Amino acid sequence: MPSREALMRAVQLVEIGAPLEDAEVSLPDIGASEILVRVAACGICHSDAHYRAGISPIDSLPVTLGHEVAGRVETVGRDVHHLSPKSRVYVHYLVSCGCCDFCRHGHEQFCGKGQMIGKHRDGGYAEFIKVPGRNVFVLPDAIPFEHGAIMMCSSATALHALNKARLKSDESVAIFGFGGLGFSALQLAKAFGCHEVYVVEINPAKLASIATFGGIPVDATAGDPVDQIREATGGKGVDFSIELVGSAVTMEQAVQGLRVFGRAALVGLTTETMSVLPYSEVINKEIEIIGVSDHLAAELPLLMQLARNGKLYFPQGTLRSIGLDAAQINAALDEVTKSSDHIRTVIAI
Ligand SMILES: [Zn+2]
Ligand SMILES: [Zn+2]
Repeated sequence: MPSREALMRAVQLVEIGAPLEDAEVSLPDIGASEILVRVAACGICHSDAHYRAGISPIDSLPVTLGHEVAGRVETVGRDVHHLSPKSRVYVHYLVSCGCCDFCRHGHEQFCGKGQMIGKHRDGGYAEFIKVPGRNVFVLPDAIPFEHGAIMMCSSATALHALNKARLKSDESVAIFGFGGLGFSALQLAKAFGCHEVYVVEINPAKLASIATFGGIPVDATAGDPVDQIREATGGKGVDFSIELVGSAVTMEQAVQGLRVFGRAALVGLTTETMSVLPYSEVINKEIEIIGVSDHLAAELPLLMQLARNGKLYFPQGTLRSIGLDAAQINAALDEVTKSSDHIRTVIAI
């Protein structure tokens, strides 16, 4: 058990726009309701590159980045009873108050006091992380730490979108964008029993890989994807579309490609303005346009179940590991912004 004076290694954002730095920091003390987790794996996320670049503002520096965390329980506070030292665990990244209206009704992503680990408080680019006990859950033995970690962000948000849109088996689906979210959305839609899943992309390498995951590629450079989807669905369109790119054009296409009673989930962040034709595109078909923000702790166990059953998987070559080292992490953050494949980088400690 670590002593109170002990130090640990961490990789921190010290200055916006500058490379992350290796640091030696105090091992955090935990309170009665908290857990100290020995980090085994922490995913490198696109958002982390945004934090480093100053695109998503961070108020308080230095901060240890990293919000996709799995590891083993090191110590538990006296009021934490659902876990014990050495348990394999994954960490829900949003620390919320637990008692406001949103928290009490299971919508903690709207908690006014919510803090994201690895942004508002120290995250998982470190040997240890301190989190409230209620953010920590058992990671099944069959799931590697690296997989558990990277499911905490894009896979979880993709699942939330499917849940929000009430996706049912045998419905037809169109996914706009085949990045980290699209990769999970395709696998999850298949796991939900949807066999007809179109994936709209422009990148040739991504288009080539869509079929290997059971999707139907739609090359948006070869013609209007709405026309292509309509043609493939006998003129009807799809039951559900999910927009992950964050552009007005693809948001509009996600709506236009729907059939009667269709639902479009908007996930991609943008400041652009989208336009819809109220009568012909929405009212006349009773279409729903659904906003999706983040995900819930309560959704994570289903992800684990799907991963355990092999429905959500990360094939050989889709993950690569690096060490807890600022130079390697900075290089990975440089790459994450220009990557055109599905290779996710995970810090393995
Ligand atoms: Zn993330
Ligand atoms: Zn709250």
